[in-house]
Amino acid sequence: MSFTSGKSSDVLIIGGGVIGLATARELHKKGVSNITILERGAVGKEASHAAAGMLAPNAETEQADDFFRFCSESNKLYPAFAAELFDETDIDIELDKQGTLYLALTETDSAEIGRRFEWQRGAGIEVEHLSARETRILEPFVSPDVRESLFFPDDCQVENRKLLHALEKYAELNNIQIRENTEIKNLLIENGGIIGAESETEKFFVGKVVLAAGAWTSLIKAENFVMPQILPIRGQMIEFHTAKRLFQRVIYSPRGYLVPRADGRVLAGATVEDAGFDKSVSREGIEYLRENTLEIAPSLVNLEIAEKWAGLRPFAADGLPILGSFPQVENLILATAHYRNGILLAPLTAKILAENIVENKDSDYLKIFSPNRFAPSGLRSLNTAV
Ligand SMILES: Cc1cc2nc3c(=O)[nH]c(=O)nc-3n(C[C@H](O)[C@H](O)[C@H](O)COP(=O)(O)OP(=O)(O)OC[C@H]3O[C@@H](n4cnc5c(N)ncnc54)[C@H](O)[C@@H]3O)c2cc1C
Repeated sequence: MSFTSGKSSDVLIIGGGVIGLATARELHKKGVSNITILERGAVGKEASHAAAGMLAPNAETEQADDFFRFCSESNKLYPAFAAELFDETDIDIELDKQGTLYLALTETDSAEIGRRFEWQRGAGIEVEHLSARETRILEPFVSPDVRESLFFPDDCQVENRKLLHALEKYAELNNIQIRENTEIKNLLIENGGIIGAESETEKFFVGKVVLAAGAWTSLIKAENFVMPQILPIRGQMIEFHTAKRLFQRVIYSPRGYLVPRADGRVLAGATVEDAGFDKSVSREGIEYLRENTLEIAPSLVNLEIAEKWAGLRPFAADGLPILGSFPQVENLILATAHYRNGILLAPLTAKILAENIVENKDSDYLKIFSPNRFAPSGLRSLNTAV
């Protein structure tokens, strides 16, 4: 069996994570028909499922650069994105806008927080410096050892698994084809342009291909072309269940974070490990997460760990997303390497790619995050730095 189409507007998306699904939706909203998502396993079950759902451009930034600007713009799209998805699918993705706290628990943390407050305020970032007392009034269950905190009112969270359900439902309702259990092995290239992709048993022919295969992107072969290298970076997470919601906001320390869900679940994350494609959880990883949790909130000490899991973040050599046309192969578009921020970056990624594919618009971000920066000669030197 093969999927064929003569239309140049048809798009094949390889990878059904948040990036592939959100891009499919945006393309459909712009009038593209005949979109197919090819997914190796089941859609929305890899990094996008493992994530914590934080939308935290401000709490996580170390500098007000282009990447920060990209994260902030995507964050601002979320209220409309969540409302539209609710209208379209009846699924509430639980966008929670109560902000994020960043705690100082040691003297070193306090020095760090002081430094960050100064430069972030100077750069125009919405941030408030709270005393220990003010912090505990906002969040009574954080550690009595808290010394001070930063409050980021614009940082939010979503229930990323509900987001994935909503995007999948959008696809089902709008005739976007999803082919699960279909692992693409090779891209089909002819005369310098892409004509499709093949699994072990099938060939799929289309006009354009969006490669959104997350941490597995580099495993797909593209004739003699050198694709940017994407590394899998494992993140382990644990989850506690509380009878009622104890925390209102996402709470960071310099060593970890807690994400409270509306139903009383508290997620704690996350490790950052180079463990190849191994998605197992380790005793050391879980212990590390538990220690960080109890440092932030010792009151959770008697709770059992209810769930634990791991996912693989897609990481490029410079830590930045890779977005837009692959320079050597016409009609091949990359949408990968969102590393620690793919949930946050999904709406803006989808928007600029769909505008580029359908309307030929060239967002500045497609220049900044272009795969071009990994031309083969550059790739060699960057690889040795990882
Ligand atoms: C523990 C953890 C916590 C995180 N927390 C956050 C957070 O709070 N906020 C945030 O913004 N981000 C967070 N992230 C990062 C975020 O999850 C990722 O950046 C994002 O999910 C990447 O989306 P993706 O669609 O590119 O990848 P994925 O969700 O991994 O999807 C890629 C898909 O491609 C499929 N695929 C791969 N190869 C093939 C092939 N050959 N053929 C067909 N299909 C293929 C895979 O099966 C997979 O379903 C976290 C990640 C982890 C692991």
